Amino acid sequence: MNEPDELKLPTILPEPCPRCGGQVSLCQWQGRFYTKCLRAGCLFGFDADELGQAISPCPRCGRGRLKSTPRGQVCADCGKWADQAGAGDRPPRPRDAVCPVCRGVLRTVWTRRGRWAYRCDTCNRWLDA
Ligand SMILES: [Zn+2]
Ligand SMILES: [Zn+2]
Ligand SMILES: [Zn+2]
Repeated sequence: MNEPDELKLPTILPEPCPRCGGQVSLCQWQGRFYTKCLRAGCLFGFDADELGQAISPCPRCGRGRLKSTPRGQVCADCGKWADQAGAGDRPPRPRDAVCPVCRGVLRTVWTRRGRWAYRCDTCNRWLDA
């Protein structure tokens, strides 16, 4: 019954659109996943993985979901452009990763050197993000 089937896309996400309350669909295009609100006129949507999770949180509001557009990345939640760089703005958070040694889930940490790094508390080890 639950066998994966790509043809079932688009899938409706459990979480409704925060702007209009409409249904949000998970879509796939050229190997990339993204979501979009199905209600006409609503522009809500964000870059997602195959499970409909946001790929990177907004560097401006910290938890908004980024959407790629021809002009760059814009936050689907706060509406700000991620790449309107001011000093100190962070690049998008890298995806969660797993420690190559212990297979534990790495913490993603913003370092004082101004870049993202992965931290394994189990191995007491830093890895490049
Ligand atoms: Zn909507
Ligand atoms: Zn935001
Ligand atoms: Zn480890």
